[in-house]
Amino acid sequence: MDILVVEDEKRLAQALQQILTEAGYRADAVYDGRTGYEYAKSDYYDAIILDVMLPLMDGFEVVNKLRHDGISTPVLMLTARSQLVDKVTGLDSGADEYMTKPFEPEELLARLRALTRRKGEVILDELSFGNLTLDLNTRNLSSGNKSVRLSSREFEVLKLLMINPKQAISKDQILTKVWGVESDVVDNSVEAYVSFLRKKLKFLKADVAINTIRMVGYRMEMLSE
Ligand code: CA
Repeated sequence: MDILVVEDEKRLAQALQQILTEAGYRADAVYDGRTGYEYAKSDYYDAIILDVMLPLMDGFEVVNKLRHDGISTPVLMLTARSQLVDKVTGLDSGADEYMTKPFEPEELLARLRALTRRKGEVILDELSFGNLTLDLNTRNLSSGNKSVRLSSREFEVLKLLMINPKQAISKDQILTKVWGVESDVVDNSVEAYVSFLRKKLKFLKADVAINTIRMVGYRMEMLSE
């Protein structure tokens, strides 16, 4: 799960990143409101931890603009100020939760779990498509009695395709989701990983394939289709 931290106190931002990483999230940190808005607008993140007092654009304005853009990513507002008026403004502007600094990491993580659950995310142990089963805990990909363990990149790429079967996924979406927003990886590494995955599908005698959709990206389909 990917979390965006928007916090101008760099030490706190880094501490948050560390707490989140240790809890198994992937976290990006940015240090001003405008950059936070630009990142959040990509609709890439599963939740946003947003400070109120920020340079260039304050947290209320960020969340306001996001909601106006139709971005419904859950927002946990963070602020040193604890006045009721802030709380009301924060919730009015579309924030989902509100927390005052200082806070306990456990409380932050608990609120984050509640927020991301609220979004309707189902915790899955495996994904299936055709005769393939991808174990989300062990990264084992199996069909019938054959199984292979995927590398973490292969796993992330295949997971994205299997979560959205029969839907075209662009190389950009794969790059952003698997390598991250700030990645300077070129898109032929997506091709390389797709080619590794195709070899594994062949070895597993999968009845599904990763098809190339010209000018668009990739799509997982049943072989018969
Ligand atoms: Ca601040």
